[in-house]
Amino acid sequence: MNPADWIDVTPESFKYSLDHFVIPPHYTEDLESILIPHGIIMDRIERLAKLIVDDSDGPLVVCCVLKGGHQFFADLVNCIKKLNTGLGHSVPLHLDFIKVKSYTNDQSTGEVRVSLSETELKDIKGKNLLIVEDIIDTGRTMVKLLSKLREFDPKSVRVASLLLKKTPLSNGYIPDYVGFAVPDSFVVGYALDYNEYFRDLDHICVISDHGKKAYAA
Ligand code: 5GP
Repeated sequence: MNPADWIDVTPESFKYSLDHFVIPPHYTEDLESILIPHGIIMDRIERLAKLIVDDSDGPLVVCCVLKGGHQFFADLVNCIKKLNTGLGHSVPLHLDFIKVKSYTNDQSTGEVRVSLSETELKDIKGKNLLIVEDIIDTGRTMVKLLSKLREFDPKSVRVASLLLKKTPLSNGYIPDYVGFAVPDSFVVGYALDYNEYFRDLDHICVISDHGKKAYAA
């Protein structure tokens, strides 16, 4: 996927206030703004699913990176399943889950913990993998995860990330499929958390200073 095909989210082009859409009242003071409304996320995922199906030439093992990737994974898999029931090309799916943690508060700990059992990893030999991630920030997590997965000889590995952060701290890693390129702020919602809070928010939002203090670890 070409960078020209990402949706570039800038504070000028995406200017939604908290009053434009419905948010859970328990988060009113904890959010600064709505960056990407839920409906736009869903429409974008439909397009990513189409690109993934068009590029696939055999069964796919779709791996969800937990916990933040779970909502994107569920909606993406649903869209691929819908495309599979059409008359065109269809892609058999197997689903898998990987747990990765590297953040406390809004800071990367620098240490990436990947939990995957050796038995599960042996099953990926010779398979086409699609890794589904919520956000690429510095790129460290994905580079580490990909090098671990490649030790087990998959046939191919592609990565779909809903968000790619425009940060000077990037290590240059770019996923194969990107939903939105987002500003360098800490974002929450649509399963992206801040110390486990905000996973129950549908829109992708920028957290406020009040929210950072209220839910600090
Ligand atoms: P990276 O290793 O690319 O710096 O960070 C990747 C992981 O950090 C993501 O999978 C996500 O868990 C977390 N992360 C990075 N930026 C953000 C952000 O803005 N919001 C949230 N909620 N998590 C983030």
